[in-house]
Amino acid sequence: MTGLAGLCALLAWPRVDEALHPGGPGHETDSPALRHDVDPQGITRVRTSRPWVALTFDDGPDPRWTPGVLDVLHAYGCGATFFAVGSNVEAHPDLARRIVAEGHRLSNHTHDHLWLDRVDQATVTEQLTRGRAAVAAYDREGGELVRPPRGWTSRTVARCTSRLGLRSVFWTDCLESALSDGPLTAGTEVGMRLRAGEVLLAHDGGRVVGANPQEIDRSGTLAALPALLESVRRRGLVGVPVQDLVAAGTPH
Ligand SMILES: [Zn+2]
Repeated sequence: MTGLAGLCALLAWPRVDEALHPGGPGHETDSPALRHDVDPQGITRVRTSRPWVALTFDDGPDPRWTPGVLDVLHAYGCGATFFAVGSNVEAHPDLARRIVAEGHRLSNHTHDHLWLDRVDQATVTEQLTRGRAAVAAYDREGGELVRPPRGWTSRTVARCTSRLGLRSVFWTDCLESALSDGPLTAGTEVGMRLRAGEVLLAHDGGRVVGANPQEIDRSGTLAALPALLESVRRRGLVGVPVQDLVAAGTPH
């Protein structure tokens, strides 16, 4: 996860605001512990007696990858939460509709995939509000859960999130962090180390336009997904939307 986030950061390195980040050019919340320090209300995992793991997919909807991800989820009978970029939801309403029609949840990944720890408070509020509105057209309450892009948050973001009645969701493991081992190994290994109550991050979206443009080939994620869900199933675990997991336990 850290490796991937670091690589992504290098590929699209934003201008550093030294006043906001006196410690230098690094983002301050690159680990679960740091994210928890900054935003104690944020969800990283859930204490639960159910054999559930939350599956979450970021950055879509994307016509190249989202349909394939939905097909695999259907084949394994799993539910998931799609933390969608608002501008991508507006560009692909058919996919947003399909996600919800197949029993998954659509949630808030901001409107334009801005690094929220690097923009002012008004922009944070605008991104969270517009992201929620884009999602609400398909999943009325789905946008109340937010994933700050790349998990980069701050005390300002935590405050804005709380004022708007939203809650951030982070993750315990990331499928793409293991892809250098090849998709089959990655899927199996990540599936083997997931524990009940944990939150998996993966990506169904490759393309994002705007201030932080990206164009990423997600074929590795798609190829790894069956092995991951097979491994999860063999261990008696079930993939569910993060909303279901939160409702079935105590988030922390
Ligand atoms: Zn993202």
